[in-house]
Amino acid sequence: MSDDIPFDKSFDLAPETVEEVVPGVRRVLADNPSPFTFKGTLSYIVGRGRVAIVDPGPLDEAHIAALLDAVRGETVTHIFVTHTHRDHSPAVPRIKAATGAVVLAEGPHRPARPLHVGEAPRLDASNDTDFRPDHALHDGEVIAGPGWTIEAVATPGHTANHMAFALKEADLLFSGDHVMAWSTPVVAPPDGAMSDYMASLQKLARRSEPVYLPGHGGAVRDAPRFVAHYIRHRQAREASILHRLAKGETDIPTLVRAIYIGLDPRLVKAAGLSVLAHLEDLVTRGLVVTEGEPSIAGRYRLP
Ligand SMILES: [Zn+2]
Repeated sequence: MSDDIPFDKSFDLAPETVEEVVPGVRRVLADNPSPFTFKGTLSYIVGRGRVAIVDPGPLDEAHIAALLDAVRGETVTHIFVTHTHRDHSPAVPRIKAATGAVVLAEGPHRPARPLHVGEAPRLDASNDTDFRPDHALHDGEVIAGPGWTIEAVATPGHTANHMAFALKEADLLFSGDHVMAWSTPVVAPPDGAMSDYMASLQKLARRSEPVYLPGHGGAVRDAPRFVAHYIRHRQAREASILHRLAKGETDIPTLVRAIYIGLDPRLVKAAGLSVLAHLEDLVTRGLVVTEGEPSIAGRYRLP
């Protein structure tokens, strides 16, 4: 695996404590560490007095209490949600009920493409299918409060409804799970799509914000350069898949073993889905062929 991304895994924040990460932005870490969530999910509080929350996080009593405690004496007017995975949005109804804030997101959870016959959403347990925003944001929409201005940046790929949020006053981007300093995210069909994910990276590469605050882990510094690394990493992954197919390998488990050296066993299933995401994209582009729809059990070859 060509791992050319300059990952930064330094991140030192105790769960359920409030920390001002940059002037005007506080963060609270949920205590839900895992191979997918790193040290846990970060909720952000934007502004002072009349504030917005980005990603209330999982349905975890200690986290909800810590978040409400952090805004005691203030008014939460807006709740922004980057995407509908269970580590980001299930606390929304509780925070909304406690604060009366309006909930803004791209839309409810949905797969990136129609399900194939007999196909189940494979990481279904990770999806918050109950989520509904009060207001569906469109790409480029700007929402403002006292001292903060947030632009919605549609970034589908990790999920179809993923949005990043640019905070104009601080020249930073809340990047959700789209771009993170410690790892690349899982892009798993049918909820995620590699072609969308790559297009969303290209979209961010054209933006100028130097700092991203992600849903997990520390800030992404020198963000445009980091995004360029992310793009090259995915292109290298695609090249290694094509290389293995050229050598006569045909199935996803074999490709995963060949490409992901030293992989955490807990991530093997997710790696298979990431390879499937690449293969879907390659089949669409006519660079790889398979019988019927691309599937996790499918056989693949060069045309
Ligand atoms: Zn997440």
